[in-house]
Amino acid sequence: MASGLSSLVISRNITRTIRGPWNFVAGKRCLPVDSPGSMKVLEPASGELLCGVPISGVEEVNRAVGVAKGVFATWSKLSGRERGDKLLRAGQIIRENLEDISRLEVQDTGKPIWEARLDITSCADALEYYGGLAPCIVGQHVPLPGGSFAMVQKQPLGVIGGVGAWNFPLQTCIWKVAPALACGNTFVYKPSQFTPVTAVTLGEVLADAGVPDGVYNVVQGEGQTGAYLCEHPDVAKLSFTGSVPTGTKVMTAGAQDIKSVTLELGGKSPLIIFPDADMKNAVKATLMANFLSQGQVCSNGTRVFVHRSIAAEYLKQLVTATEKLKIGDPFAEDTTVGATIHEDHAKKVLSYIDSARQEGATVLCGGERVLLKGKLAGGWYLSPAVLTDCRDDMKVVQEEVFGSVASVLEFDTEEEAVKRANDTRFGLAGAVFTKDIQRGHRVANSIEAGTVWINTYNLYPTEVPFGGYKHSGIGRENGLTAVDYFTQTRTVYVEMGDVDCGLLYQD
Ligand code: NAD
Repeated sequence: MASGLSSLVISRNITRTIRGPWNFVAGKRCLPVDSPGSMKVLEPASGELLCGVPISGVEEVNRAVGVAKGVFATWSKLSGRERGDKLLRAGQIIRENLEDISRLEVQDTGKPIWEARLDITSCADALEYYGGLAPCIVGQHVPLPGGSFAMVQKQPLGVIGGVGAWNFPLQTCIWKVAPALACGNTFVYKPSQFTPVTAVTLGEVLADAGVPDGVYNVVQGEGQTGAYLCEHPDVAKLSFTGSVPTGTKVMTAGAQDIKSVTLELGGKSPLIIFPDADMKNAVKATLMANFLSQGQVCSNGTRVFVHRSIAAEYLKQLVTATEKLKIGDPFAEDTTVGATIHEDHAKKVLSYIDSARQEGATVLCGGERVLLKGKLAGGWYLSPAVLTDCRDDMKVVQEEVFGSVASVLEFDTEEEAVKRANDTRFGLAGAVFTKDIQRGHRVANSIEAGTVWINTYNLYPTEVPFGGYKHSGIGRENGLTAVDYFTQTRTVYVEMGDVDCGLLYQD
């Protein structure tokens, strides 16, 4: 496996190899002050030990939150321009070190290197977007009768507690951290226990960019560490990305202290393809909607509704394209399918395919473990699966699989497609493929989801909001909207005349 690091790097204070310490508190890598144990992090590509990471106990979480609270007054009092300059610089540092950071992400996730480069580029995009936006986070002046007026101010919340998933480790972290810091908040982040690496790299990037020590902190651990963070009384807001069951726990923890909560949760999104769709683009979108990052993408369009009249041709082309995907070393430039995050998850994905078979689905291709040779023999590589003869009530069609499994369902009418598309507790995303502009908009406006694509899939520019309807979440990340989720509104009323208290006061 090619795991050598790029030699063309601009020298900065960034750790370019997999090594600890793995917490980042008060501006430097450090060991936790208390640790109930340690986590063995495996490299998905090989199944071998990548690193051992001490779990942070309650004292370490207290320390990180205390540090973030201590520096809040300094950071929040900087002007938006001053904060934004540092975020812009951080974005630039990420671009200068793109190859090395992408390689760290590949080692941590098992995703193909070309995908990791796109993910890390999107991290720089987000830092630059919110860096540019920071000076523009302003309030309102509201004129009132008699010359009085009100100032409506957008104020930071305080310490944000972030908890993330493992599929896009650095992107998930930066989608939270960039807007939060731009708004003047400080941050404590707990990455997924499966992908601890690049959130710490972000600490080094931000320190290099001049962000004061303690503004961004990382505590490593499993669910219990996340729970300590979510339950901490000095954490003002929780920003969570993960599954619905854990999201429920995070929201419950937040409720104890009336914390604001943003939840980015799972999905089971519909991709609806009409007979007039451009077939090649529909097939390309199906690949994007199902097989990117080994299918471990929250917004994936795993319920593919295809009009019955084109289903046979569409399936033929989809299977041909799917069978061309190259399963292999995530570091090889031509690999399109890397390793599943870990053995248990791969077995769970395979169990969904088994259950689909038992319920009557036909597996047209894929759905098996592919054994690679040499160092990669211990990785869990799954061939992307296309299922047909699916029904809406099958387990594989109802539940989030979070793996490379596309369930193809046929439909006859637009009304039927929309009704079936919305027949889910999830509402993260969806898409419609058609050349009929009116139908495209009509269907897009009928899909109950936070993001609907017309004639494309799985694109998330930083400029546009992302988040879920229904069980897929609360709140939005990205775009101008994210500012609303990392600020609170203070109204200052200025009286320019005498106090008007009606009949209460008699001269
Ligand atoms: P998960 O819910 O198992 O874990 C997510 C994080 O929560 C981890 O860091 C975990 O340690 C932590 N955690 C566990 N218990 C906790 C508790 N009681 N309190 C606080 N934190 C706790 O999810 P996962 O398997 O890591 O990620 C996959 C899920 O994430 C999928 O459902 C996927 O759709 C979703 N996801 C959603 C988005 C989105 O933007 N909507 C993006 C990526 C992933």
